[in-house]
Amino acid sequence: MLLPMTAEIYRRLDREYPEEIGFIEARSPYEHLIAVIMSAQTTDRQVNQVTPKLFERFPSPADLASAPISEVERIIHSVGFYRVKARNIIGAASVIHHTFHDKVPEEMEELLSIPGVGRKSANVIRGHCFTKPAVIVDTHFARVVRRLGLVQASHPDVIEREIAGMLDGGLQYRFSMTVNMHGRKICHAKKPQCSVCLLEDICRKSGLPEAFQLGNGV
Ligand code: SF4
Repeated sequence: MLLPMTAEIYRRLDREYPEEIGFIEARSPYEHLIAVIMSAQTTDRQVNQVTPKLFERFPSPADLASAPISEVERIIHSVGFYRVKARNIIGAASVIHHTFHDKVPEEMEELLSIPGVGRKSANVIRGHCFTKPAVIVDTHFARVVRRLGLVQASHPDVIEREIAGMLDGGLQYRFSMTVNMHGRKICHAKKPQCSVCLLEDICRKSGLPEAFQLGNGV
């Protein structure tokens, strides 16, 4: 179901950010999945700096599944939490190789069975790689939809479920990406740029101080 408010936000953001939005550079669903696992608690830019070397050294799921962990740790060292991430991506490659026969699965439950993959990562893969319905709730998305007044919940699973109920499946991924981009560019965590925001007239500004409610925010 497409609610009028959600439809209007979708329409405006879709026009504002017409380009295809992607933050992670990858050549296949497999590379995308491994990169997404490494993107936890770090920037996509940092991940994009280590993936070329990682996939040059270990191109296939089988290669990475049997890689020495110390070498993987050395390659991905700069992304932070590298010990846990090295273990997760080797484990993920092993599951993709042995359980899914070198093919990244499309279904949520299957994706969640892969080490290091939570709902957010699974939705990134479903939406980006397989054009499946996918609401991607990260810190930017959650902040913006709460301020807009679309949801009140703070738990990502609840936000995902509620937003998914407001949008047709085919629109969910694009909505996620444009809202995310809007959060990065305009609706900043500490100082949202309400005075130049294209959603200002329909935004409830939930949770913002009074100055923003009165339209004095910058
Ligand atoms: S009006 Fe302000 S709070 Fe609302 S979406 Fe725009 S920047 Fe964010």
